Amino acid sequence: MTDTYTRVMRTPVVGGLAKRVGAPSPPALERFSEGAPVIAGKVLLGAAAGGRLAAPLAKALRALGASTVISDGDPARRLVNDVKIGSARLGGENGTKERFKALVLDASGIEDSTDLVALHGFLYPALPNLDRCGRVLVFGTPPEATGSAREHAAQRALEGLTRSLGKEVGKRGATAQLVYVAPGAENAMDSTLRFLLSPRSAYVSGQVIRLTVPPKGAGSEDLGELDWKAPLQGRSALVTGAARGIGAAIATVLARDGAVVTGLDVAGAQADLSALMAKIGGSALEVDITSPDAPEAIAAHFPDGLDVVVHNAGVTRDRTLAKMPAERWTMVLEINLSSEERINDALLAAGKLRPNGRIVCVSSIAGIAGNGGQTNYATSKAGVIGMVQALAPSLAEEHSVTINAVAPGFIETQMTAAIPFAIREAGRRMNSLLQGGLPVDVAETIAWYASPASAALNGNVVRVCGQSLLGA
Ligand code: NAD
Repeated sequence: MTDTYTRVMRTPVVGGLAKRVGAPSPPALERFSEGAPVIAGKVLLGAAAGGRLAAPLAKALRALGASTVISDGDPARRLVNDVKIGSARLGGENGTKERFKALVLDASGIEDSTDLVALHGFLYPALPNLDRCGRVLVFGTPPEATGSAREHAAQRALEGLTRSLGKEVGKRGATAQLVYVAPGAENAMDSTLRFLLSPRSAYVSGQVIRLTVPPKGAGSEDLGELDWKAPLQGRSALVTGAARGIGAAIATVLARDGAVVTGLDVAGAQADLSALMAKIGGSALEVDITSPDAPEAIAAHFPDGLDVVVHNAGVTRDRTLAKMPAERWTMVLEINLSSEERINDALLAAGKLRPNGRIVCVSSIAGIAGNGGQTNYATSKAGVIGMVQALAPSLAEEHSVTINAVAPGFIETQMTAAIPFAIREAGRRMNSLLQGGLPVDVAETIAWYASPASAALNGNVVRVCGQSLLGA
């Protein structure tokens, strides 16, 4: 699905003219297709001296089949000497013309602001060789886990780099992210590396992702052999609001990844829901999540428990607060937040979430940035973020379950089609990728959280917004 402006801009005549007058020219994004490799091109790996992540990154890149090279003279050469890897020469007159689909940098060795020059040393010669729809991934240490104020400042500085780079490379469909890896989580990077390198993360850019030590029994050593083509094989998933829009895409992608999906929606959406469930081999559940008996009915529906809950059902009822009737306020808060809390409580109280289980919530960038005319919606979606942050530690500790959220930006659905034209057009373009996202972009991000290999992701809020200017 491409919007009319983007279609016209991609025609040779109009596109050429648009470039000359400086009109936004949205790049065509690459998205996942069945059977495609994780990454279709070479990866350049680098490191700041003393990094602790270069070796595990090299191993993970090798395991996912990426053709990886290290630049001559880069400290990564010394750090990964037990992993066989190719070499490249960058920059200068004899510099390579070799193209890279991804630039991956271990910045965990940076302990002082003066070490930040390593970022320039790696990226300056490499960026001209980055392909269309390429990836820049920087890996660091969470500032709060560092040993000194200098190291804290230097690691925190990585955010400014990656967020700015996202804005520079976005015009070519490329993205940039920062991944903070807690000490002890070095072997838990695989699922995140795969997601961020692949076209599955097409509309995710400028994000800061945190990996923590996985809950007990959910680490990579406990997983056994994972079939990365169907990582959710044998897992059972509930998706609320699955009849259409983003929820339908989530159900479809989770089923594609092997999950047995139960799609939930209100009575009026059952025809669409049943048709979708028949297509993806799932089953339909008719529940209004705000009804008083919904939490118990949902818990009772899964006698053997379940692995993944996706709280996607949500509504908008926009009005400025001065003109908002109480019913509109309450309805939005009830559907988007309070019912999710009640369902979580019921599932946890009944022990229905299996170990290494997942709760994934759909927030919104409105919950981060606020939005005029959406005080009710933004309040509910900010509350969702609060719920994720509050529950993350105890869920991991007591249930071996993780909870994370996605915060979509402008996604092309019936919800956004209802926005007045001028506001809709502004919403679409005001991001580094100059276009709206697709429901599948949100769904792929949720599938990454849902993977049994993603136990190190807990308490994250990742925006799927093309690095929208709103709340950035
Ligand atoms: P949509 O309106 O197309 O679909 C929402 C689904 O939720 C519908 O099938 C609806 O029947 C269901 N639903 C509503 N109330 C329910 C209830 N009480 N019980 C059970 N099901 C109920 O919306 P969408 O655009 O696909 O949005 C999905 C989620 O993504 C929402 O939480 C929304 O707030 C969020 N979101 C969307 C965008 C966007 O750009 N579309 C941006 C940010 C966040």
